[in-house]
Amino acid sequence: MSDCIFCKIVKGDIPSAKVYEDDRCYAFRDINPQAPTHILVIPKKHIDSVAALKPEDEATVGHIFTVISKIAKDEHLDAGFRVISNSGADAGQTVNHLHFHILGGVKMGEGLI
Ligand code: AMP
Ligand code: ZN
Repeated sequence: MSDCIFCKIVKGDIPSAKVYEDDRCYAFRDINPQAPTHILVIPKKHIDSVAALKPEDEATVGHIFTVISKIAKDEHLDAGFRVISNSGADAGQTVNHLHFHILGGVKMGEGLI
């Protein structure tokens, strides 16, 4: 998707603070962090959202969660962390390229979940 900012980040056309990369996914620090550690993990392939996932994306999403677990260890989030993926307008999704927020480094409240 030529006008997608996360596709541009994957291609290196927009700079980002890279945390991890492999052939299927890319992780970088959120530009507007909501916690001391706030990282986004995205598939390199453009997928709009959780709502747009297809059966052929299962391996990619499963891989992303293994990467999330590795990043949490590397970032020393041993006390816990939260993984969030906003899907669609009601959830407040602002970038329509599937992404998983990793939030940690602070004791989180009990709001919403
Ligand atoms: P969401 O609201 O769930 O769609 O999350 C989109 C996230 O992308 C927000 O937390 C933004 O701060 C973040 N974001 C938008 N543009 C960039 C960028 N260029 N680099 C890093 N994070 C970004
Ligand atoms: Zn994209």
